[in-house]
Amino acid sequence: MSGWDGGIVDGFLLAYRGFDPEAEGLREALTSTGNGYLCTRGAAEWEDADGVHYPGTYAHGGYNRETTMMGGLPVLNEDLVNLPNWLVLELRIEGEDAITLEDVELLDYRHEYDIRSATVLRHLRFRDRAGRETTLSSRRFVSMADQHHAGIEWTLVPDNWSGRVEVISALDARVSNRGVARYRQLEGRHLNPVSPRTFGSEVIALKAETRQSNLYISQATRTRVFRGGEPLPASRTLHQMEDYIQQVLAFDVRQGEATRIEKMIAFYTSRDPAVSDTLVRAARSAARHSDFAAAFDRHSAVWDELWRTCDTRVAGSEQVQLLLRLHSAHLLQVCSPHTADLDAGMPARGLNGEAYRGHVFWDELYAFPFLNVRLPEVARGLLMYRYRRIGEARAAAREAGFRGAMFPWQSGSEGVEETQRVHLNPLSGRWEPDLSRNQRHVNAAIFFNIWNYFQATDDQAFLESYGAEMMLDIARFWSSIARFNPARERYEIHGVMGPDEFHEKYPGAPEGGLANNAYTNVLVAWLCDIAARLPSLLSASSVAGLRARLGISDDELALWRDMSRRMFVPFDSDGVISQFEGWDELEELDWDAYRAKYGNIQRLDRILRAEGDEPDRYKIAKQADAVMLFFLFSDEELRELFERLGYDYRRDTAARNVAYYDQRTSHGSTLSFVTYAGALAAIDPESSWERFLVALRSDADDLQGGTTKEGIHLGVMAGTLDLVQRYYAGAQIRDGLLYFDPRLPSGLAGLSFQLRFRAVPIMVTLDSGLLTLEVQPEGGSREVRAGIPGDVRKLGPGDRAVFELSEGRVPAGGP
Ligand code: BGC
Repeated sequence: MSGWDGGIVDGFLLAYRGFDPEAEGLREALTSTGNGYLCTRGAAEWEDADGVHYPGTYAHGGYNRETTMMGGLPVLNEDLVNLPNWLVLELRIEGEDAITLEDVELLDYRHEYDIRSATVLRHLRFRDRAGRETTLSSRRFVSMADQHHAGIEWTLVPDNWSGRVEVISALDARVSNRGVARYRQLEGRHLNPVSPRTFGSEVIALKAETRQSNLYISQATRTRVFRGGEPLPASRTLHQMEDYIQQVLAFDVRQGEATRIEKMIAFYTSRDPAVSDTLVRAARSAARHSDFAAAFDRHSAVWDELWRTCDTRVAGSEQVQLLLRLHSAHLLQVCSPHTADLDAGMPARGLNGEAYRGHVFWDELYAFPFLNVRLPEVARGLLMYRYRRIGEARAAAREAGFRGAMFPWQSGSEGVEETQRVHLNPLSGRWEPDLSRNQRHVNAAIFFNIWNYFQATDDQAFLESYGAEMMLDIARFWSSIARFNPARERYEIHGVMGPDEFHEKYPGAPEGGLANNAYTNVLVAWLCDIAARLPSLLSASSVAGLRARLGISDDELALWRDMSRRMFVPFDSDGVISQFEGWDELEELDWDAYRAKYGNIQRLDRILRAEGDEPDRYKIAKQADAVMLFFLFSDEELRELFERLGYDYRRDTAARNVAYYDQRTSHGSTLSFVTYAGALAAIDPESSWERFLVALRSDADDLQGGTTKEGIHLGVMAGTLDLVQRYYAGAQIRDGLLYFDPRLPSGLAGLSFQLRFRAVPIMVTLDSGLLTLEVQPEGGSREVRAGIPGDVRKLGPGDRAVFELSEGRVPAGGP
């Protein structure tokens, strides 16, 4: 365990007791506070970046490119920039050095994250070198009510002394990106100073600019001191440099008496609407900021509202409950209703660390099922991030010799390919080629997300204005990369790779890419069928407009129909799906020997390469690849798909494939635990539950030993919420119908959550063998069809439907 003591106070508190320098980076990431616009790590206000502490602030879209010369060659990277540090509050007692955790004797120390309101709390009692004992409590939030605001409150009590203190309140732009050790050889300076300023006696402000993308970032802060509810006059002195500004507030404190310090912050960038000069805007906003208590109340009220929509209540384990809520809160801190209005994608590692440079991968695939039915406007916003970059996706397809739109594997500001060409292997210290950009399956994932957003919301306007265009251009890309093989009479796709990153090429091959990745080919067959049918779902004028604009002929629609029936899928001699063509000829690895030698072998690729070997040679997978199919689609859907393709799909197809790959997968990406938990839910519920628990604890317990401090794994966090909703409650949306096929594992005694299906809010409860669906009255007059297989009912506002579940799927007791 990483030191969190459960802290189960009404299921909403993540608590750590005692300061542990080793664990501080992890705790900072897990106790980050954000509002879907900006997010700040849970670092102590008074600490600088120093190897133990790493105060980092990141905002959606805050990217900058820098070039590093490596081995005489320029390497260009785009990073999500660590923005100026607005946290700085330091305490000096009687003119001595500012207090740091390492310099005092800690008599009591708690670091907590109140999940309900995404608030980071620190409570410490310490003895300084002069023997003075002091209690300091800190509360901090990034406002969910006003995306530009944040607040810090300190309560200071001298326990055995009285005297003079100084509180330093600062804004610090002398920061760089150095949160990930592996990237330290790369240029980490992204900010240029612009100007510090003061506004009246209370407000200080600072403006900085990103060096290449010329994004202005301004912060302003107003610091006040209170005792007994009344403002306490403090003398203020100012110190400013071009990239740093501070105010020192000096005042007397008395033994046993609490003094409160409030630092209220305003934050603007030049990406914000309705802003002229960000510096003036931030300063004016900070000056008008309400006091901490009022601002915090508004912030908490918005979180209360969010929990009504987004909470997942489970019975059976307090720890499971707590971690599910932690995951919901982190998802909301990155993807909140504020995000819907921004030009924002979902960075794989959230907004609280620098791993993967804040890039957007395919991980959103794991978040859409939750967002589609909880916060559909946020899901729509994430899809708009893709739409705004369709021009680059088209250019990328053209440059690679294809048609349509080819979205990048790693996306940042502009939607061009941001994947590095070399990657540092921390085990060998060598820079190795990175061919992972060939993961074209991200394009199928985007199509899948658009289609499922539409299924859940019936948002015809989105489909007609944006969604269909992306879907058609993605289908066109796939039909241009696919080749018809007359010998097989099937379509094939070469030169791509699946999600498993251990296989980037064939052993010894000079070029990257593999032939006929099964996951990709099946998804392409699936999406080509939908693309060919898409015109029938749109209004006549939209179809005419789109077909004219994109030049879609009847022949192209016919080609998609043909591909939906004739994509090639490789199988081995035992009828197991081959991850890609040629998998069968690879060697088996002696897993036991590697486990015995290395213990943790999740990153077998790094281990093998450090040994001078290549993972390409073996039947090993970093993560679910072919198994993704059994996660994304129901058995029934896969049967239809395979049968349409003319392949066998047997009762045991899912079980045999999952068992085969399970033995050969190292789960080097924690996404893989989510995928297996889903794929196993119907096959082996207990094994599914075990994987679910691993995924659920993977960030809280830092399963990968050091990656979470570089940023939480947002896809995994969202994926655990999806598992409860889509697998354990069994909520599936298909053909305009919401149906439930619950499979509660023994660890779950019951559950309840709200979802929004086609604008109708429905409370779902599974308890004592019964599924209850209650349509909330605020849903307008719309009706939906929902139920269990064999019993589907029409539900309107205020309706309540109770379904008896069959034996084996019956939960006992409820939340
Ligand atoms: C995984 C990818 C994932 C990426 C970002 C990698 O380790 O293999 O599937 O998209 O991390 O989370």
